[in-house]
Amino acid sequence: MAETIKRQYGTFDILPKDVIYWQKIENVLRDRASKYGFEEIRFPTFEATELFNRGVGDTTDIVQKEMYTFNDREKRSLSLRPEGTACVVRSIIENGLVHEAMPLKLYYIANFFRHEKPQKGRSREFFQFGTELYGADGPIADATVILLAADVFRSLGVKGVRLHLNSVGCDNCRDDYTKALTDFFESKKESLCPTCKQRLATNPRRILDCKDEGCKRICADAPKTVDYLCGDCKDHFDKLRTLLEESGIDYVVDVKIVRGLDYYNKTVFEFIDESIGAQSTVCGGGRYNKLVAQLGGPELAAVGFGMGITRLIEAMRQSESLVAERKVPKIYLAPLGDDAKMKCAVLTEALRREGVYAECDMTGRSLKAQMKYSDKLGAEYTLILGDDEISNGAARLRKMNGGDTVDVELSAEKIIEVINR
Ligand code: ATP
Ligand code: MG
Repeated sequence: MAETIKRQYGTFDILPKDVIYWQKIENVLRDRASKYGFEEIRFPTFEATELFNRGVGDTTDIVQKEMYTFNDREKRSLSLRPEGTACVVRSIIENGLVHEAMPLKLYYIANFFRHEKPQKGRSREFFQFGTELYGADGPIADATVILLAADVFRSLGVKGVRLHLNSVGCDNCRDDYTKALTDFFESKKESLCPTCKQRLATNPRRILDCKDEGCKRICADAPKTVDYLCGDCKDHFDKLRTLLEESGIDYVVDVKIVRGLDYYNKTVFEFIDESIGAQSTVCGGGRYNKLVAQLGGPELAAVGFGMGITRLIEAMRQSESLVAERKVPKIYLAPLGDDAKMKCAVLTEALRREGVYAECDMTGRSLKAQMKYSDKLGAEYTLILGDDEISNGAARLRKMNGGDTVDVELSAEKIIEVINR
């Protein structure tokens, strides 16, 4: 026997029994996004590496150690997309959407790739539902994407998530804050992990994101961005809070939320569900007003989020709202004999053309085995046809689960008449 080949570490298959949940969730995501006026965008799986270097940020974990980067046959450096925002920004600049009437509201459901240590809630290929809202810089735009995320959780019956909200300020307030932060960490430098000692020189904010226990303890006392907000950022944050409160959204101001990506300003947020394990952030996002210009487009305000679908599914499981039904055939055709097999195959196609989910035996198993299989599929009716019955132009139609058996004429039209009665 030939040797089998295994899937790659950190990737997973989604088998038919699970795909039904994914499909149902995707339907809800599309429905809710469109109710909020977001339109779907699709973009390539790989892009120039440069897009992510500039669009995600050279000092981020994603760019420094998580990207799947390779040279193609023309020796161009390409990367599998590690996230969606840079891709969307590239696309709307390239296709001129940045010049259309604003706001521009987009969503995507896509797979992303990051070379990180696989664990519960973290894989190397994963799926996100993401939204992006461009061309509106006031707090109503921030509220809109946050309310859409909250709506998705409500629609899917997720009860354990809570919104954690913070503001990281803008360029005006950022310098004062970064200085305060640098001074603070300088005074604790000896206790920082080796990576954070480097971060202190390159990007001290990243220290706030460190997973090292010692660094975490130090960070608990670090200066908080909300205490350094300029008038404009403070007003933005206060109005956003009012909008969320008026809409009945439960949230906490959480100064620990700084997000791992470089491009955020003002609002940052995460929806966290403690019941799903260590990787508890189901959805993360914020405002990134400088990104479009940074990637060569015009100045364009932007706010959005990425929601991890496997973590969403886990949150649904914890809330006992993960339900979906497998489709069952309306009718199973069970032939006995070679002529009956041919007849049933043709009849099955005729039924399918009329929109009926019909199944037919194609393995040649015994009648007993066929009845068992039909039962397993959950078919509502089974049609039994023997070779000798074909000349009569009739077959037996049994309603499963203890129903009656009746004779029925051998035509799709007549069969449909009976099964739809
Ligand atoms: P984390 O803190 O979990 O590493 P992140 O800040 O890297 O998350 P984002 O880039 O903001 O995550 O992505 C948004 C969401 O996508 C996350 O909140 C999470 O639900 C999901 N996600 C991110 N990375 C992975 C992964 N490797 N596997 C599964 N889901 C992921
Ligand atoms: Mg990460």
